[in-house]
Amino acid sequence: MFRATVLTLFPELFPGPLDASVLGRARADGLWALDTVNIRDFSDNKYGSVDDTPAGGGAGMVMRADILTRAIDAVPRNDRPLLCLSPRGKPLNQTRIHDLSRGAGVIALCGRFEGVDERVFSCRDIEEVSIGDFVLAGGEIAAMALIEACVRLIPAVLGSASSLGEESFEGGLLEYPQYTRPREFEGRAIPDVLLSGDHRKIAEWRRKQAEDITRARRPDLWERYQTRGPIRSEKNKDETS
Ligand code: SAH
Repeated sequence: MFRATVLTLFPELFPGPLDASVLGRARADGLWALDTVNIRDFSDNKYGSVDDTPAGGGAGMVMRADILTRAIDAVPRNDRPLLCLSPRGKPLNQTRIHDLSRGAGVIALCGRFEGVDERVFSCRDIEEVSIGDFVLAGGEIAAMALIEACVRLIPAVLGSASSLGEESFEGGLLEYPQYTRPREFEGRAIPDVLLSGDHRKIAEWRRKQAEDITRARRPDLWERYQTRGPIRSEKNKDETS
């Protein structure tokens, strides 16, 4: 079972949004598990402080290596990668999320303040991962994003696995536009082809739309799609082989 363990100074933020809707029900049904470790419990002083001023000077505070590694060492690894959420990390993408979701889970270290003493990364086997080129106030929301993205891919959590295969990023393209009722809205009709019942034409139209949107919005993805062709997740490979 996929187990997420989050090391944080704010354990009360969890499960938070991870308990809503299908993910919450899936956790209640034992399809995945979540626990938190309060880094403050590993402080060595009566104030429970975990940070100190940066060596070399400058603004803000840095999380201490000794306290953080004590917290890290208290968590059973159980074959799980230890990921530190960080704007300096390797950007997460759907391919990596698929890999993680197939594994035993994740241990997520959430930074606060200016970040983490660099020696934590060299003394423990930690990978820094980012959720985008912007800076949050703490790693908690990033950890939630990572966990939510993984858990929704666990078979039986979302149910209809077929719709997952057509989503943005799955084939290396962004998703085609979706429509539902009403048939006409503020003078705009649902494209005729979608109501034609011709599944081959619908598939062609969606492919073309996905390509147009990807080319216009994400030249980086489009470039890769053209050179490498459709990305196929392991799961989709299994289904067709
Ligand atoms: N001084 C740091 C930013 C610290 S932000 C720097 O310039 O790199 C405080 C914490 O928020 C970080 O330690 C990290 O855990 C989290 N965080 C901020 N932005 C993030 C992002 N884009 N992805 C993942 N975690 C992020």
